[in-house]
Amino acid sequence: MSYAEQRELESTYLMGTYARKPVELVRGRGMEVEDDAGRTYLDFVSGVGAASLGHCHPVLVAALEEQARTLVHVSNYYYIEHRGEVARAVSDLLNACVPEGERAPWQSFFANSGAEANECAFKLARLHAKKRAAARAEEAGADEAAVRAAMAAAPRVIVTLDKSFHGRTLATLAATAQPAKQEAFQPLPDGFVRTPLNDVAALEALFATQGDDVCAVMVECVQGESGVHPCLPEFLQAARRLTAERGALLMCDEIQCGMFRCGTHPFGFQHFGIAPDVVTIAKGIASGFPMGMCAARAEVAASFGPGDHGSTFGGSCLAVAAAEATVRELSQGGYAESVERVGAYLRERLAELPHVAEVRGLGLMVAAELDESASAPDVVLAGLEEGLLLNFTGPHTLRFLPPLVCEESHVDALIDRLSRILTA
Ligand code: PLP
Repeated sequence: MSYAEQRELESTYLMGTYARKPVELVRGRGMEVEDDAGRTYLDFVSGVGAASLGHCHPVLVAALEEQARTLVHVSNYYYIEHRGEVARAVSDLLNACVPEGERAPWQSFFANSGAEANECAFKLARLHAKKRAAARAEEAGADEAAVRAAMAAAPRVIVTLDKSFHGRTLATLAATAQPAKQEAFQPLPDGFVRTPLNDVAALEALFATQGDDVCAVMVECVQGESGVHPCLPEFLQAARRLTAERGALLMCDEIQCGMFRCGTHPFGFQHFGIAPDVVTIAKGIASGFPMGMCAARAEVAASFGPGDHGSTFGGSCLAVAAAEATVRELSQGGYAESVERVGAYLRERLAELPHVAEVRGLGLMVAAELDESASAPDVVLAGLEEGLLLNFTGPHTLRFLPPLVCEESHVDALIDRLSRILTA
C-alpha cells in the first residue's frame, strides 16, 4: 500500500496521538530503512532507542523465525525456553561492575513495555515497604492487628526527578514529573513527589521532612525524553545514601539509557558508581520486539509472591527468544567499546556544526542543543529530504539514538547532510 493510501487509512482509523512524519517505512537493514518509494534513510532514531542491533539483524531474525515455528505463546503458568537464560544474563550484566566475590543474583519480572516495567517497580517498592514494616512489628512482638496497622502506615511515597519520563500509564505519568503532561489526566495516583534534578540540598531537605514516608527514589541516570540530561554522580550518590539510611529503595529507570546505550558499561548507573536495588529495562533489550523487565536484588524481589503481579504476555516465548538473541549479541559483540568510541566521535562532529550551541550525552545517547535561530522540528523534516531519520525533544533540541551498530562512516554521512540543512 502506498504512503498516500496508508496515511488516509491511519488518519481515519487511528487515534491522533502521534504527529507522524510524512513517510511510510517498509523495510530495514542495519542502520538503514527504506520507504514505499524505495528511498533509503539513515536511522538515528532506531524506534526511539529500541532497535539496538539495527534493523533485521540476522541473529534476531533467526531467533524469531525459529521460535515462531516452535511455540509463540503459552502462559506464565508454565516454564518455557530462554526466559531463565535472559534473566540470568541480565543479572550478570547488572553485576558487571561488582567485584567477583560480592555478586548476588537479581530476579526479574517480565513485562511488555517500559511503562509496565516501571509499574512493576512501583508495586514492588510499596509492597517491600509494607513487608519491612510487618517484619519489624513482628520482631517487636506486635499482635496481628498491630502488624496490620504497621503495614497500613508503611512508607509509600515514591520520589522522582523534575523533567523525568517514566511512561504514559496513569501511575507512570504520576511519576513523570512534568506538570504539562499530567494536567489533562488528573486525578493521577497519589504518592509521587518530585525533586529537582541534581540538587543534593533539595533532596536532603525532602528526606529531612518526609523521609519516613519515602519507600523509593526512582531516577533516570541519563534523562532521555527531556533532552539527554545526565545526573551528577554526587546527586546519585546522595540518593543512594539517603535511601539506604531509611531502608527505602533506589530504583534506576534504565529503559532508555540501559543495555549498552551509554557505552563502556551495560547499564547507565554503572557510569556513576552507584548500586541500585531495582532496575527497569525495556527498549533495546529485545532489539525492537516489545519487552520490558523489572529486575530487583533477590532480597527485594522476595517481597512478591504468587498473585502479587502478573501479565498475560509478559516474557512470552517470542519476546524472550528475541531478548536472548539480543543480549547474547550485545554481550559478545564488542558493543561496549564501539558505542563508546562512535558516541565520542558523534559528539565531537556534532559540535562542529553551525547553530549547535551544546552537545550532551554518553555513548550513543546524544543531544544537540541548537541556538534560538534554528528550529529542531524543521531540521527533522528537512532530514527526511536528505535521507535521515531524526528526532527532536524540544523546539531547539535534536536527540540522536541510533542503533548500536552505528559506525563512524554513518556519523560522517549524518554530519554532511546535517551541515547542508543547517547552512541552507
Ligand atoms: N522510561 C523511560 C526512561 C523512557 O524513555 C520511556 C520511553 O521513552 C519509558 C519509561 C516508557 O517506555 P514505553 O514507551 O515502552 O512504555
